[in-house]
Amino acid sequence: MTLLKVKHYINGKFADSSDGNTFDLFSPYSGELVAKVAEATAEDVNNAVSAAKAAFPAWSAMSPQQRGRPLAKLAQMITEADAELAKLDAASLGRPISTYFDGYYAAMHFRYFSEAAYPTGTSSLNTPGFINVSLRQPYGVCAAIIPWNSPLVFFSKKLAPALAAGNTVVLKTSEKAPLSPDRVAQMLGEAGFPPGVVNVVHGHGTPAGHAISSHMDIRALSFTGSARTGRLIQKAAADSNFKHLIFELGGKSPAIVFEDAELERAAKETQHSIMFHSGQTCMANSRIYVQKGVAEAFIAKFNAFASARKLGDPNLKETDSGPQADKVQYETVMRYIEEGKKTGQVLQTGAPVPTENAALFVSPVIFLQQPEDSKVMKEEIFGPVACINTFETEEEALRIANDSEFGLYASVYTKDIDRAMRVAKGLESGMVGVNCTSPTGAWDMPFGGYKGSGVGRESFLLSMEDWLEQKSVYIRVDGLQTSSAANSTLGR
Ligand code: NAD
Repeated sequence: MTLLKVKHYINGKFADSSDGNTFDLFSPYSGELVAKVAEATAEDVNNAVSAAKAAFPAWSAMSPQQRGRPLAKLAQMITEADAELAKLDAASLGRPISTYFDGYYAAMHFRYFSEAAYPTGTSSLNTPGFINVSLRQPYGVCAAIIPWNSPLVFFSKKLAPALAAGNTVVLKTSEKAPLSPDRVAQMLGEAGFPPGVVNVVHGHGTPAGHAISSHMDIRALSFTGSARTGRLIQKAAADSNFKHLIFELGGKSPAIVFEDAELERAAKETQHSIMFHSGQTCMANSRIYVQKGVAEAFIAKFNAFASARKLGDPNLKETDSGPQADKVQYETVMRYIEEGKKTGQVLQTGAPVPTENAALFVSPVIFLQQPEDSKVMKEEIFGPVACINTFETEEEALRIANDSEFGLYASVYTKDIDRAMRVAKGLESGMVGVNCTSPTGAWDMPFGGYKGSGVGRESFLLSMEDWLEQKSVYIRVDGLQTSSAANSTLGR
């Protein structure tokens, strides 16, 4: 692959960093240097914010149809580039092309939001002498900070509604996965976005991420990433201008499998949930609780599915799992595996690591009967590591499933509809799968987490709300009948 040079996209032009600095991006599969990426400084972030500020009046004054046109065109361009985008994520992340759905996802989001921008306000006739209306208006300059594991999923689910709502945006890519967002940035001019409406900067949390989260002119910020970074962003927002925050954070998602469950399906799907993308998804069911009577059979089936995974070159269609996304991720996962070996039993699956380019591959691991308070049960590992524990009663299953600071996704497998409903209601989780598990979801349903897994919800139906301020307008109307008991101070 020819060496790529990735630059910021600011005010409709590609630019180097103000200090000329770049960082190197290596393929986690071949180790080859794939790109030199511009490292944004606080000055670059300022330039991007200034461009977005200048572009805001004209962009927000357009009709929804006018704003929708470049969004729809971008959807089409992304669809046409799907195979190329898949290869870029394979190069930067080791993400197998066989698992790539992100281009389709991004196109759907830009297409949906190209027609979704008729924000509805409410009106009230209940104040004597007044007709009151509420307005939904864009914030102005907004920002998005995205993680690496599915770059275009987060690029589109944040940008599309923010732009449709009339905001202008500065987006920071992840330092691990800037290639596919950069390729889409190259489409923005041709799609018809005026300069400054979308600005894409690259770089690390410090300085670029921090410069965004503490910027005084950014009024709303949507972040997807780890709880640790979410905390830093929330502090920076509080220390600057209380910008409106939307957070999608990490998870330690439980799946509960009862004795009457369809065991084959439960094993297949829970295995896929945690092993897909080498365990690097936020909602992976990393804790699996199986009722004692079927534990042995379930574990055997789960192990067979995990052992059948083909680890290898992410560019080959037959590959199920690639390497971990980089050396840091690999070392973190290996540390947790060593830790888990000390606290519980380990079942090494038979999936072989490839003979070539094996450095960052982790063969799927199953931990059994880990103590509930052990690190591997409490912390997000973000690797192909499943923890399987047993339970006896429904009450016990619910109690241990909920004993977590995370609450992103949970699932329950049972044929008993009453039990399924009781458990679904009792689970402290933003999303619950009944006889299915993550990544099962629906684009019109709220996506987000309870507790430490996030703040707010995203979806086709909800995301416009994330990017619109609300204003109440009280309009006195002379001649409107008022009762003698009411005075003019808003119906007191
Ligand atoms: P991360 O928190 O390390 O980084 C996410 C982004 O934040 C990156 O762009 C990074 O550069 C930036 N960042 C880092 N430090 C910053 C700072 N001080 N200020 C501002 N920005 C900063 O997360 P990651 O490793 O990229 O992604 C993995 C995490 O994301 C996991 O915890 C995973 O569960 C979570 N995630 C959540 C969802 C969800 O929808 N809930 C989806 C995908 C990933």
